[in-house]
Amino acid sequence: MRYDSSMRRVAVKLLVFLLLGAVVNVAVAAVFMELRPESKHTRGNDFPSKEYQYATVLYVFPDTPITALSCQKFESDGWDVTITTSMFLNGDTPLERMVKVEHLKTGWPFRTFQGWLGSEWNRNRADLEFHQRWVLASGEWGHDSFILEGSNLVYPLQPILSGFLFNMICYAGSLWLLFATPFALLRQKRVRKGLCPKCAYPVGGSTVCTECGKPVQRRAKIEA
Ligand SMILES: [Zn+2]
Repeated sequence: MRYDSSMRRVAVKLLVFLLLGAVVNVAVAAVFMELRPESKHTRGNDFPSKEYQYATVLYVFPDTPITALSCQKFESDGWDVTITTSMFLNGDTPLERMVKVEHLKTGWPFRTFQGWLGSEWNRNRADLEFHQRWVLASGEWGHDSFILEGSNLVYPLQPILSGFLFNMICYAGSLWLLFATPFALLRQKRVRKGLCPKCAYPVGGSTVCTECGKPVQRRAKIEA
């Protein structure tokens, strides 16, 4: 009975800390995305493969012919953005269509969420056409940059499972240590002074505290 209830307590604690870890994880990803326009980025080192570029463009603009692709990756702490540009060339005629897809990822230490923003330019149309996949975005699209401008809210929404789980466990563990350490030190101090670790009542000869009923280790037993 006692064993069952203490197991349940540990399970509930574990769940609570994992939930807190998930909340911190989401908050950290949101903060990095919010800081993205101001943070110093560098050009990414791992150049995205042609397969990735094709897949990215077709994910946002399905069933489109692709004749030329170029790609740039930018990254900083907590986020990275891969911009794939695709042109539709038809022999010697002028450029007919161009699409640009931004693949955004955010989260720290590992990426937690991803989303896609796309814009399409067409010679026969006056306006750009914009597409979003798994992104919460609001604000003005930059008609020169073909992307959402810096001051706008952009937040990727598709969870990246491996990164999400890893970060969540890291944050949950850190929070657990942060909360548990002061209590563990206090209990240790009480045991050293010969007091009940739970209620600080002096421990007598009994193996349970005469005040609160918690099993106690007597000092002699600990030093032995
Ligand atoms: Zn006690």
